[in-house]
Amino acid sequence: MRPLSYARTADAGAAIALVAQHPEGVFLAGGTTEVDLTRQDVLRPGLLVDINDLPLDGVDDLPGGGLRIGALARMSDVARAAGVVARFPVISQALLLGASAQLRNMASMGGNLCQRVRCGYFRDVSSPCNKRDPGSGCAAPDGFHRGHAILGVSEKCIATHPSDVAVALVALDAVVHTRGPDGERAIGIDDFFLLPGDTPDREHPLDHGELITAIEVPAVPMARHSVYLKVRDRQSYEFALASVAAAIRVEDGTVVGVRLALGGVGTKPWRARRAEAALFGQPASEDSFAEAARVELAQATPRRQNAFKVELAQRAIVRALNTLTNGDAR
Ligand SMILES: Cc1cc2nc3c(=O)[nH]c(=O)nc-3n(C[C@H](O)[C@H](O)[C@H](O)COP(=O)(O)OP(=O)(O)OC[C@H]3O[C@@H](n4cnc5c(N)ncnc54)[C@H](O)[C@@H]3O)c2cc1C
Ligand code: SF4
Repeated sequence: MRPLSYARTADAGAAIALVAQHPEGVFLAGGTTEVDLTRQDVLRPGLLVDINDLPLDGVDDLPGGGLRIGALARMSDVARAAGVVARFPVISQALLLGASAQLRNMASMGGNLCQRVRCGYFRDVSSPCNKRDPGSGCAAPDGFHRGHAILGVSEKCIATHPSDVAVALVALDAVVHTRGPDGERAIGIDDFFLLPGDTPDREHPLDHGELITAIEVPAVPMARHSVYLKVRDRQSYEFALASVAAAIRVEDGTVVGVRLALGGVGTKPWRARRAEAALFGQPASEDSFAEAARVELAQATPRRQNAFKVELAQRAIVRALNTLTNGDAR
């Protein structure tokens, strides 16, 4: 039996100090990842610092059209906030297509960004896994990897990032605000998710004891007509095989603005910058969408069981953009 301590505080500075001072201290929000993995012996925290009393659960409209989402705002509350539904439907849809209603009521936005991969070998403590046990190897390439990543992979790890809402936030250039032992900082969300490279155990640039306080989404007028498309093995309670967060602005039939990000295919929520560049200035047609999707997926590294994701992701991109441009969503 391993000792596990628990502390609860309503003071952010105290919570940060408690975690920072304990080498195995971690924050506990909704617990839907942390408690599961601790029970399975995958994670071995020595101290859980419960942050649910911190006043970080607001979902506030910002002057100019942006949004500030507290780190402890629950997924369900964010999904139904009026400003989110009206100005950022892609966020609302991504949240509602994730997990289950019960989980969304518990799970926080900060915890969502920090949730751990769903790779079966990560969760099976008898398997080698560089992410759980650095240097032990990666069982996935020669094992079961149908759901694994085709973009951003390394020899050390090919697990997909599981979050849905992170894909929408990456498309919108959100910023993650933190407070740690050394003060406050703001991290662009694309930099918040690290590629596995040689250190797949390091998923974020957070220091030990650094607390996410909020996520800010800048005003993105075209996001009023945005969509989150999620393709999965079953229609609910399932992670994405491929997903697309998309927003597009078309003038006189030409693409003058576009945001695209992919989930279910990358080791991090994947901003599809090559596709965006390929689309800019092109006719808003299915042919252009297909070509942009092809350009993005040309950099994929598929394997035996997950090669189908290349075409799946391309088709998902085309379908998401068709959905936005076929109606009056311009
Ligand atoms: C069965 C199941 C299905 C799921 N399906 C989906 C899905 O389809 N799509 C999807 O996106 N997600 C899915 N999830 C994941 C779920 O969304 C996450 O577990 C949840 O968002 C994590 O939030 P939490 O508040 O419970 O985090 P916790 O479990 O409390 O914490 C998770 C991690 O984040 C850290 N943390 C929490 N808050 C902060 C903070 N403010 N600052 C710094 N670190 C912090 C914790 O220390 C811990 O390491 C599913 C989960 C389950 C169990
Ligand atoms: S893919 Fe990543 S998480 Fe899965 S076994 Fe390999 S190192 Fe571990």
